Amino acid sequence: MSLSGWVTRMQSGFYTVQVGSETLVCHVRKRLKRGKEMGDLISIGDRVEVSRQPDGSGMIEEILPRQRALIRLDPTPRGVVQQILLANPDQVLLVFSCAQPAPHLRMLDRFLVIAEKDQIPAAIVASKVDLVGEDAAHSLFGLYESLGYPVFYTSVQTGSSIAEVKAHLLGKITGLAGPSGVGKSSLLNAIQPDLGLAVREVSAQTTKGRHTTVVRQMFPLAEGGFVADLPGLRSLALWDTEPEELDGYFVELRDLVAHCQFSDCTHRTEPGCAVRQAVSEGKIHPERYASYLRLRYGND
Ligand code: GDP
Ligand code: ZN
Repeated sequence: MSLSGWVTRMQSGFYTVQVGSETLVCHVRKRLKRGKEMGDLISIGDRVEVSRQPDGSGMIEEILPRQRALIRLDPTPRGVVQQILLANPDQVLLVFSCAQPAPHLRMLDRFLVIAEKDQIPAAIVASKVDLVGEDAAHSLFGLYESLGYPVFYTSVQTGSSIAEVKAHLLGKITGLAGPSGVGKSSLLNAIQPDLGLAVREVSAQTTKGRHTTVVRQMFPLAEGGFVADLPGLRSLALWDTEPEELDGYFVELRDLVAHCQFSDCTHRTEPGCAVRQAVSEGKIHPERYASYLRLRYGND
């Protein structure tokens, strides 16, 4: 009899599959492996059909088509290897603190470009709001609300917006990313006891691996949904993005580009550039424009 479930953990050829409230440790049918790189065969987040083996383990019989995926391209001596960080993400949650450490907004912009490119909805957590107060937090992150991204102003000290973040995660597969020290573990612990500890434990193991990650895991939420840390996203290069497509991943540049005088405008020096015009009129935030230039021309 075939059961369907989600791959929630992978470690050295073994896969844990959650079937209803039960978890099964599974192998993979050999025929599924044929002609595939292990890096992109099965990922956490994949939906699979499994059968129960006489010894109580499971066998993955089918991998259902992926709706979407967060992918990292790893250059190796054998060529570029595709590594799936998370299959079927419904959204990403990007965590940056208002202070301690100060928000690294260039990195946030880079993550947003990745999310736009992969067509994955993104939301932002502005954490540690207690350290700066609501007004200062809004002046740091309000820009992103005006671009249409949901922003949650959280504090585990005051409990601010914790319930809202929890509701946002409900029933979804969420990839979590952000620099270390911004309070990701604390936030997850506040959402569900020990969740942050569990995630941190796995991330520590993941980053030990060099090219192949040692263990990948997504964690179930008690009321439905899964959360996976994406430590790999930090090192995810944009080199698989063509420079010319970059402006399409800045939501406020996307629609302006058609109004530039030159169809191949780089929005840096050309006359008749609608993007620079909008920057000079204050319609595009100078920091976002600086991020665009930085991602397109380097110095990052
Ligand atoms: P992670 O590396 O992103 O998982 O960050 P942690 O959850 O380990 O938090 C890093 C530090 O920030 C710890 O000392 C936490 O106590 C502190 N911290 C986390 N959240 C908050 C918050 O909402 N307010 C304040 N003031 N400190 C926080
Ligand atoms: Zn232009």
